[in-house]
Amino acid sequence: MKQEKAIIVFSGGQDSTTCLFWAKERFKEIEAVTFDYGQRHSLEIECAKEIAKELGIKHHILDMSLLNQLAPNALTRDDIVVEDGGEGELPSTFVPGRNLLFLSFAGVLASQVGARHIVTGVCETDFSGYPDCRDIFVKSLNVTLNLSMDTSFVIDTPLMWLNKAQTWELADQLGVLEFVRERTLTCYNGVIADGCGECPACKLRKRGLDEYLSFKKGS
Ligand code: ZN
Repeated sequence: MKQEKAIIVFSGGQDSTTCLFWAKERFKEIEAVTFDYGQRHSLEIECAKEIAKELGIKHHILDMSLLNQLAPNALTRDDIVVEDGGEGELPSTFVPGRNLLFLSFAGVLASQVGARHIVTGVCETDFSGYPDCRDIFVKSLNVTLNLSMDTSFVIDTPLMWLNKAQTWELADQLGVLEFVRERTLTCYNGVIADGCGECPACKLRKRGLDEYLSFKKGS
């Protein structure tokens, strides 16, 4: 039996699109929420809009431009270079407080629309080192949200312990590998599908896909 209603934090990228399909199988009703924080490539939001429309999913787009005002970063500013962090440093794409704010606002939205579940594609194993993608952070925020609103939200993180190859495998199991490959945007340079091939996000995505496809061929 399918569980109740869920809100999906949805960026239009590989991970959250895979989560959207994952949630579609599990919940009676789902709604998606996309945060507009002045991403360099508004194409990301266009991808999200098109996917939600095509799947007939109610889609909320929330203005979070204050995040960019507070913390300018490589995802929103052309003049900040996308770089991996050095030893012990966070990459320049890290936006302090991003998932704290996004998941909190998703919680407010969930309380308004009567959803108990909040689904997010954060992942501890993607090597980004973002502290707000870790399981312990999500669990802690889950408790905080419930205490703050006297609710019993469940934050679902289906990708938490998967690497990129396993995330592709999940998309394949859900029957949407090609859809995710062709319709999502992960690239920091704003190139849809397989991307620019040069940026850290493209390299990670491609490495995972190659790994999964060669594993599939071999098995
Ligand atoms: Zn790229």
